[in-house]
Amino acid sequence: MTAPYTIPCPACDAPHHPAAGEDTLSARCSACDSPLFTGRPIHLTTERINAHAVEHGLPLVIDFWADWCGPCKTMAPIFEGLAREFEPHLRFAKVDTDREGPLAEHFGIQTIPTLSVIRDRKEVARVAGVMFAGDLRRWLFAALSEHSEEVSESPSPAS
Ligand SMILES: [Zn+2]
Repeated sequence: MTAPYTIPCPACDAPHHPAAGEDTLSARCSACDSPLFTGRPIHLTTERINAHAVEHGLPLVIDFWADWCGPCKTMAPIFEGLAREFEPHLRFAKVDTDREGPLAEHFGIQTIPTLSVIRDRKEVARVAGVMFAGDLRRWLFAALSEHSEEVSESPSPAS
């Protein structure tokens, strides 16, 4: 028996298990009735990460950023712009590395912006630096089509 597929609610973090054939893109959370997909990234914190990085569930792409980081500001609208395109196959999330230092440290984030794809609780892809929409789209498709292969290398420290 396989575990049910899980879509964590972007509003209350409750796990939603879609019924067979359910249109998840327009589905609502059974706990709080919020839409499961809004076309916008969610903001993840240390408290929320375990609810969203789940086994056999919706993969996550996290944008690690900070307010003072110019390239992060360039990246933000590009990242956000692809959210609707990839829903309901991918959850877009952001982590403010200033507010969530321990979480950024847990992921070993050394430069920002860094994007990380999490699938079945494992990081399957990571890239540092600004990517424009075409490259980002290709990178995400590649990351999603690979099956739970762990990345071996962390990005090099900033020079
Ligand atoms: Zn909810």
